[in-house]
Amino acid sequence: MDREMIKAEKLNKSFGELHVLKDIDMTVYESEVVCLIGASGSGKSTLLRCLNFLEKRDNGKIVIEGEEVTKESHDINEVRQKVGMVFQHFHLFPHKTVLGNVIEAPLMVKKMKKEQAVQLGKDLLKKVGLEDKADVYPSKLSGGQKQRVAIARALAMEPDIMLFDEPTSALDPELVGEVLETMKQLAEEGKTMIVVTHEMGFAREVADSIVYMHEGRIVEKGTPDQFFDNPKEERSKEFLMSTT
Ligand code: ADP
Ligand code: MG
Repeated sequence: MDREMIKAEKLNKSFGELHVLKDIDMTVYESEVVCLIGASGSGKSTLLRCLNFLEKRDNGKIVIEGEEVTKESHDINEVRQKVGMVFQHFHLFPHKTVLGNVIEAPLMVKKMKKEQAVQLGKDLLKKVGLEDKADVYPSKLSGGQKQRVAIARALAMEPDIMLFDEPTSALDPELVGEVLETMKQLAEEGKTMIVVTHEMGFAREVADSIVYMHEGRIVEKGTPDQFFDNPKEERSKEFLMSTT
């Protein structure tokens, strides 16, 4: 677990006067599962969006699988193939079937052959437990099912790194478990993952590392045991008190 998959160095991002990311240094290793936690507004989504080039950083360095991706790089598509993302709101295409959603990017971006994409799509739907939903439209699915389709769709680009931004926050409580289970399965298969979550049970059980953010800075990084049982920083302690 010592190959560096994605690394940020002295990353800064402001929106106007608002300095949202402050000198973020973070390295994620192969097969590592990092849970990124912190209060609302601390900059978690902005960090993921900068790592995936949905948002342009102001300065600092991003290195993906050993290659620096400069701000001027034009091949954002190449980055997106290496770094998949799942959002709080699933963003499925409503006019496409479940299978259609999953195979869209392989067909359009990777120019995969139709039969091959269909096979891949079916395999991925099986993996997330939705093989029987291939031909239905997203409106017929529960939130948990939609999110599992969104995960399959992200995996269809065969990314080496998966980013999850509060994937269960929009779900009814009874649907959270099935999505966490899917993510846990990915983690066990060795996928490199950064997961923004408020699900502390999941973080404790599945994460290799916890990164705690406060007001745009990484305040503490440690194993789940260190972080939850013995947080070093005052801010972390306060946060943990507020969540229990
Ligand atoms: P978190 O995901 O931890 O809740 P965000 O990264 O979404 O935090 O937001 C961090 C701060 O940046 C917040 O104050 C938020 O209002 C602000 N922010 C996020 N995106 C934008 C944007 N596109 N324009 C202006 N301000 C933004
Ligand atoms: Mg957020």
